[in-house]
Amino acid sequence: MDFHIDTLPNFPHATVEQCIQETGDVFLTLRLLNDTAACPDCGQASGELHQSRPVLIRDLSIFGQATYLKIPRRQFYCRSCQRYFTELLPYVDKGRQYTRRYEEYIYQQVQLTTIEQVSRIEGLTYDRVEGIFNHQYK
Ligand SMILES: [Zn+2]
Repeated sequence: MDFHIDTLPNFPHATVEQCIQETGDVFLTLRLLNDTAACPDCGQASGELHQSRPVLIRDLSIFGQATYLKIPRRQFYCRSCQRYFTELLPYVDKGRQYTRRYEEYIYQQVQLTTIEQVSRIEGLTYDRVEGIFNHQYK
């Protein structure tokens, strides 16, 4: 697939490092460009990266194919608080496996159709669609 994007307007400080198409799914590997992250407790920026492991986050489909972002989930050390914290990303709610815009999209689709239909189109289980809907309906 010929697919070139260097910057994603909706994903600040991130660039697409790799794009793979595999068994009908699209995987975009993101590289984060910021070297520091703000501690959620004291707000101080830390550049002491402790560990990083990739997580798969479902995003809006590209060309009708299920799309996943491979994003490094990074842990930094805050000297003031003397503890590790996980970097918060503005486009993924804490602990979620989907981007915010994907969850918003699912929420809208459920309102327009039914959970069953969205589940079938998106290839998600009923429970997952319902989970997204309930997460958005706050
Ligand atoms: Zn702190």
